Amino acid sequence: MAYFRALDSASDMLTLVEVGQTSEGRDWYFALISSPENLANVERYREIVQRLAHPAGLTDEAARQLSQEGKAFVHIDGGLHASEVAGAQHTIQLAYDMLAGADNPRTAAILDNVILMLWPSINPDGQNIVADWYHSNVGTPYEISSPPVLYQKYIGHDNNRDAYMLNVTESRVVARTWRRWEPHIVFVHHQSSPFPTRIWLPPFAEPIASNAPPLMSRTVNMIGMAMAQGLEQNGQEGATHMEPFDAWYPGYIDYLPMLQHIAAFWTETALYRYATPHFYTINDFPARSRDLRPQTLYASPWKGGWWRLRDGVEYMVTASYYTLDYASKYREDLLYNRYQSGRDIIRKYEQEPPYAYFIPQEQRDPVAPVELLRRLAFNGVEISRLNSAVTFDGINYPAGTWVIPMNQEFAEVAHGVLDVQTYPDLREFPEGPPDQPYDAAGWTLSYQMGVDVTAAASPLTDEVRSAMVPVAGEPVDWRAVQGIGTSFDSPMDVGFDTDATAVGIVPLPGRTAGSGSNLAVDPAQNNSFRAINQAIEEGGSVRFEAGSPGDAGHPGTSGRYVISGISRSSANQMVRDLALRAEWTGSNSGAPVRRRIALYRSWRPSMDQGWSRWLLDSYDFAYTRITNGDLHAGRLRDRFDVILLPAERPQSLLNGNAKGSVPPRYEGGIGDMGVRALDKFVRDGGTLVCLNNSSEFAIEQLHLPVENVVANIPRDEYFVSGSILEIQTDPSHPVMAGMPDRAAVFVGYSPVFTTLEGFEGSALAKYQQVGSPLLSGYLLGEEHLNGYAAALDVVHGDGHVILIGFRPQWRGQSFGTFKVLFNAMLYGGNVSAGSFSNPEFWTAPDQNGETDKSGTM
Ligand SMILES: [Zn+2]
Repeated sequence: MAYFRALDSASDMLTLVEVGQTSEGRDWYFALISSPENLANVERYREIVQRLAHPAGLTDEAARQLSQEGKAFVHIDGGLHASEVAGAQHTIQLAYDMLAGADNPRTAAILDNVILMLWPSINPDGQNIVADWYHSNVGTPYEISSPPVLYQKYIGHDNNRDAYMLNVTESRVVARTWRRWEPHIVFVHHQSSPFPTRIWLPPFAEPIASNAPPLMSRTVNMIGMAMAQGLEQNGQEGATHMEPFDAWYPGYIDYLPMLQHIAAFWTETALYRYATPHFYTINDFPARSRDLRPQTLYASPWKGGWWRLRDGVEYMVTASYYTLDYASKYREDLLYNRYQSGRDIIRKYEQEPPYAYFIPQEQRDPVAPVELLRRLAFNGVEISRLNSAVTFDGINYPAGTWVIPMNQEFAEVAHGVLDVQTYPDLREFPEGPPDQPYDAAGWTLSYQMGVDVTAAASPLTDEVRSAMVPVAGEPVDWRAVQGIGTSFDSPMDVGFDTDATAVGIVPLPGRTAGSGSNLAVDPAQNNSFRAINQAIEEGGSVRFEAGSPGDAGHPGTSGRYVISGISRSSANQMVRDLALRAEWTGSNSGAPVRRRIALYRSWRPSMDQGWSRWLLDSYDFAYTRITNGDLHAGRLRDRFDVILLPAERPQSLLNGNAKGSVPPRYEGGIGDMGVRALDKFVRDGGTLVCLNNSSEFAIEQLHLPVENVVANIPRDEYFVSGSILEIQTDPSHPVMAGMPDRAAVFVGYSPVFTTLEGFEGSALAKYQQVGSPLLSGYLLGEEHLNGYAAALDVVHGDGHVILIGFRPQWRGQSFGTFKVLFNAMLYGGNVSAGSFSNPEFWTAPDQNGETDKSGTM
């Protein structure tokens, strides 16, 4: 930053622009780089970009004229995966080359045609974390060791998987800046390319997003080839394309902009570790790469030798430079294509479904649609609201219902997250195992967030259109609803027309019924848990009132939480601020809720651990982070009622970092001593909550009479990675309180349970007996989970082990299942075995796979 500040004061071709602050409160900037004339007129060029980005009311002729006048805006940054260190370094070199190269005709043309938005990093906090870690280890045996912390406050590597959810500050700052500047190209640098190639460039591998605008895909392909040609011109060998990086998941911050008609992509430059050099011989190469055979998309195979930080920087500078060169040469096409691609999407959804999405305000959790719609609005999707009731396609929609009309330029953003994903059945070879998706296969937000959304199958009528008013303004502080404590400016205040009379995206007001001095809250609402935690902080107490177990053919009913001991005005304020549906009651029975929670922190920091922390912080849970040392010290039951083990591989939990691979204080895992302490904790009445594959750790180490039935099934028979499946729940069990009896859950590399001789406890959720439970994504071999349990409450001594075979807080997206984790955090201390549950809910299939059908739904 000091270097960029020096350039800013020395040159009239570079201006630093402040964009806000990072999660850890650092001031954050990018640099605008262009000719002095362009920078002097940058506001005019930004206006042109905005006009072309939003084509409504513009003629092709006018768009053509603006395209001739305007400049191409190109976002390039130094990356966000902070252990990939060359990216940030290359921005310094690139800035210098642009400013010092005005005598070079190619550079001069770039400065004339292009306005470069150069970000030293889009994760400055992580950059500092990794740099500090590396500096503390250089020259020691731990020079290339991994840091024991994530390189973003909460989410580490998942920071480029947050583009449509915008859960962390960095994603919001970048998205907000893009809406202000609407760049034509977004280019994010990553490392590493598939060994031994030296840089991976687009085109992407299959599959790409099913709704990617084709003109943008073609543009990215051309830029990929322009970069490759530039690398060859410079004698930089080893560029490759396509495998293994597909572009199916739109949560990538470097791909979602495609759906906004921005040519968005990333590259992957080779990396050894951090800034440490490494020498490779051909014997280090995989056998298939040793023949150095030139290929269509790998025309100059890399032959080995030294690879240093400087080499990575130089490849990146070339890739960035030839992207700018492309933008300079194709300036007018870039501007016009931005307009044309948006115009064509508006036309597309005037002629084909979905014509709109309807989202009623009244929902199981009335805050969930608000969380969903605010994210879409922040990403530039225009949302309307009905100012009177209408009937459409035979459905009555009350006034207040939100409508997302699809004849808008950013419609594909809404389509991409509200539509069901049908992941193509790609195989490694015919009849072979499924080709593994690089990331999630299905993520449909209406399922994940438990929001009822109806797609319009026929064109909107005049009646509907005349009742629609665009929403605007932000009368409620985002933090009151979203709760993560970061600044979140109005999504509507940038680049969109606003209607001062319209009402913003706010939940139905909170309301209470009944009488009495205690407040009963419904666990179907996530905000009920904010209320519970705030009440505890204020000195109140909370009890759990059990629901009633179901019987043959009928699901049970959910319990609820009753808050007492806080003032009436404080309770009323919670109802108002949290938009709660609550009931006053005189009742104060039920089990007291205790909240002494520990979150296990491994020195191999998992993103699931980060997301768990994000979720607990967002909903005001107090908890203690414990490490191996706390486990080894024992006496856990004196300190805690509940211990949460986030998803992590069982071997990684047990053994942690190998001896000698990290500074000694970060060596090792839970180990035998920790296992004994956890076992005693549960036997003495504690609750151990295990997410996804950490369940397998508990099954093995605590010798639970439970088996993961999909553990050893080959990938060509059973495969599900990152998809949404339907489960049947037992809402009468406290951990499932507030869940619908049929629920959508996010599943990925997840265990599926059956119980063995000696099992005591109950099933919390199960898969259907026959047929596929797939709702969105990809599932092969449903017969391997039919009839088995998706989550269990295992009684162990006087305590419980909760095994959750899905991802209840996956990337902060699955709002519909957050409550499973919340309930589990409060399921400590006073629960007695089986007292709430319905014994008829689930019976383990017998050895022959036959199930006792009595009592199944
Ligand atoms: Zn990366």
